[in-house]
Amino acid sequence: MPSYVINEKCDGCKGQERTACMYICPNDLMKLDRDRMKAYNQEPEQCWECYNCVKICPQQAVEVRGYQDFCPMGANVIPLRGTDAIMWTIKFRDGSLKRFKFPIRTTPEGSIEPYAGRPEPDYNKLKGPGFFTHESELPTP
Ligand code: SF4
Ligand code: SF4
Repeated sequence: MPSYVINEKCDGCKGQERTACMYICPNDLMKLDRDRMKAYNQEPEQCWECYNCVKICPQQAVEVRGYQDFCPMGANVIPLRGTDAIMWTIKFRDGSLKRFKFPIRTTPEGSIEPYAGRPEPDYNKLKGPGFFTHESELPTP
């Protein structure tokens, strides 16, 4: 079920031009109401529940109502993102908690060079067939 914002927690990312939830939503669904300085999901029926906005919100102000197969009625699921792991807290309706910690990366943040070892792009080939990563485009070892 779609994401929703808990108004009491949202600080509107302190009025930045583009809030964290707006930046991350692949569907451009999150919007900031500048009068109230609260974000909201402007088209809930288009939300595919990817949890990106939930994970990035620095105030933990966004939630998604989980389906019953992993989140029993009345429970909620809150992620807390770290630099190398994410902690999921499941809070059940009787108040009990379960926590699961999953690693999310094996290399330091910012250390990946996606084009390392690739040739410089040849813009003359832009309109031709072929792929940048095609064998013939790679330098011979
Ligand atoms: S990321 Fe969180 S705090 Fe920032 S505007 Fe969105 S819901 Fe509010
Ligand atoms: S759950 Fe995903 S699709 Fe839905 S509003 Fe958040 S970021 Fe967008």
